[in-house]
Amino acid sequence: MFRGGNGPLQVTELDWQHPLTDAFIQSARELGIPANTDYNGANQAGVSAAQRSIYRGRRCSPAHAYLHPALTAGNIDLRVNALATKILFDNGRAKGLCYHRGGRQFKVEATREIILCGGVFNTPQLLQLSGVGSSESLNDLAIPVVHHLPGVGQNLRDHCYIPVSARVRNIKSLNERSRGIPLCMEVLKYVFGRRGLLALQPSLCYVSWKSRPDLTDNDIQIAYAPASYDANRDMQLNDYPGVTCAPWQHVPKSKGVVQICSRDALDPPRIQPNYLQEPTDREVLLAAARLSRDILSARAFSDFFESEDQPGRDVNTDDEWYDYMRQSVGTGYHPVGTCRMAPVSDPTAVVDSELKVHGIQALRVVDASVMPNIPSGNTHASTLMIAEKGSDMILGKSPLPATEL
Ligand SMILES: Cc1cc2nc3c(=O)[nH]c(=O)nc-3n(C[C@H](O)[C@H](O)[C@H](O)COP(=O)(O)OP(=O)(O)OC[C@H]3O[C@@H](n4cnc5c(N)ncnc54)[C@H](O)[C@@H]3O)c2cc1C
Repeated sequence: MFRGGNGPLQVTELDWQHPLTDAFIQSARELGIPANTDYNGANQAGVSAAQRSIYRGRRCSPAHAYLHPALTAGNIDLRVNALATKILFDNGRAKGLCYHRGGRQFKVEATREIILCGGVFNTPQLLQLSGVGSSESLNDLAIPVVHHLPGVGQNLRDHCYIPVSARVRNIKSLNERSRGIPLCMEVLKYVFGRRGLLALQPSLCYVSWKSRPDLTDNDIQIAYAPASYDANRDMQLNDYPGVTCAPWQHVPKSKGVVQICSRDALDPPRIQPNYLQEPTDREVLLAAARLSRDILSARAFSDFFESEDQPGRDVNTDDEWYDYMRQSVGTGYHPVGTCRMAPVSDPTAVVDSELKVHGIQALRVVDASVMPNIPSGNTHASTLMIAEKGSDMILGKSPLPATEL
């Protein structure tokens, strides 16, 4: 009912057992969070070992699952290392595209339609560069307005998180396995059996739970890894064994914006996420962070727990936590929403229910930017579903019959 078994994208269960993941799951259960063997099934709530798109030790990416087989069929002309710089219009119809490749500019014409899939930051960037966006902002950059669509680049949503990490004892974490001789051993394991550290995803367990006991639905998520980053060295693992929880809110209300700052497609757009702008977002994240601390402090984890690393035991009151949030909040890498699907009457709308850009002919968006709101989970699967549905609509296929759940 909730998943098939013969689609192009392989999804597998975590096949790597470790005392630090077992202890994490037991600690969460000790706090009353039930174990859930399929959080992508009927019920998301609980603590689970992560499911992942890794098959036989290799990532099953959308390129691997969809693009490579399509290329083999021979009806795609793929141009890599090419940067789309501008959509060309004729009387409100998308007619072609300029792109930059190897220091040269090229132009292609579309016979049917143009489909944008540059992602949450670059799709609105390309629309704005091409004259589709807020007329006021376009006028500021002297870009001729093709269509005033103020929602382009608005409604940026993301799962933002703060790290809650601990130093552990009596055991090796991934920190030690990822350097020196142990890393050489992991490389050998991978080369000869596609197993071990190099065949793992970063988060090995997930918790979906409630920020308050009176809620009926879960509203927070915690990703867990038996590894920890050094707070003082960017993206470097600690020199001692550690574990990390990354708590976030399922559906934050805060909204950010993506806006070009120049007419040059090579200039990155300004990304203003406005994380935690809404007070409720701060409250819910605080509850998720406290739950992370409680899980790592539970009895089932006590054989391994040595001390809290981040934020550290001197952070206790709400204000101390909020101060820590301001210093350490970061992206959960799930941005969505900057070309929002909504009826044309909605001032934030960019695409209609068939993913077509409002007010323009022959132009669709098929990527995570069309999500009206952020999903209560990681965004990769939702994006693939948009792409599957989008391809059916482009091909003119009838929708599948509705299923009773
Ligand atoms: C570090 C990281 C970790 C993540 N981990 C997870 C996870 O564990 N689970 C999960 O569910 N989700 C995860 N995500 C989120 C997931 O990857 C995204 O939700 C998903 O990839 C969004 O797909 P998209 O097609 O909208 O955009 P993208 O995947 O970003 O694809 C956009 C593509 O367009 C190309 N492009 C952009 N602009 C141009 C241009 N002007 N010309 C030509 N090409 C262009 C880009 O190079 C890119 O290839 C993660 C994301 C990141 C960054």
